[in-house]
Amino acid sequence: MTDDYQQSSEWAQQHRESLTTRHTHEDVLTDREFELLLEACSSLPEPKDPQTRFVCLAAGRLGLRAGEIAHFHAEWLDWDRMLLRIPQHEPCECGYCRRQATQETTHNEELTHEEAMEARWHPKTVASARSIPIDLSLRLELCLERFTNQYEAFPRSRSAVNRRVTAAAEAADIDGRVYPHAL
Ligand SMILES: [Zn+2]
Repeated sequence: MTDDYQQSSEWAQQHRESLTTRHTHEDVLTDREFELLLEACSSLPEPKDPQTRFVCLAAGRLGLRAGEIAHFHAEWLDWDRMLLRIPQHEPCECGYCRRQATQETTHNEELTHEEAMEARWHPKTVASARSIPIDLSLRLELCLERFTNQYEAFPRSRSAVNRRVTAAAEAADIDGRVYPHAL
C-alpha cells in the first residue's frame, strides 16, 4: 500500500464519517432555505415583518446570538466605519437578565443578585464583545437602516427572538428545527 493510497483512503474514511455522523450543525439552513425564510418575512403582518427580517439577518448573516439580538441597540451601529459593535456591558433589567442573574447566583455563593444584575446585560463571554462588518450586502445594510429608522432597540423580549424565527420558518414551510443559532 503506498502512502498516497493510505492517505486517500484515510480521507475517504473521514469523509464517510462526516456524512454519516450527526453533527450539531446539521440544523444549519442551506442558502436556498435562508432565502425562502427571508422571503417569508414579507408575508408576516406588521410589525412582525421588519422585526423578523432583522432577526433572521442578524442571526444568519451577522452571527449574532439570540441574547445579543434581544439587547441590540441602534447605538451599536457605527455607520462611518460600517461596523456593528457588541459592547461588553449594557445596563439592563429585563426578565431574561433577571433570570440569568438568578442562575449565576446559584452557581456562585459569593455573588449577590444585586451584583449579578449590575453586570447585566453582558454577552456570553468577554470575547463576545466584538465588531462585525455590516457592509456585507446591500440587503443587510438596508435592513439595518430600516429597522433602526423604526426602532431604537429591539422592541421585544429574548423569547420573542425565537418566536420570530419560528414564525418565519412556518411561513416559509421549512421542515426541521429552525432557531436563531441554526441560522
Ligand atoms: Zn436584558
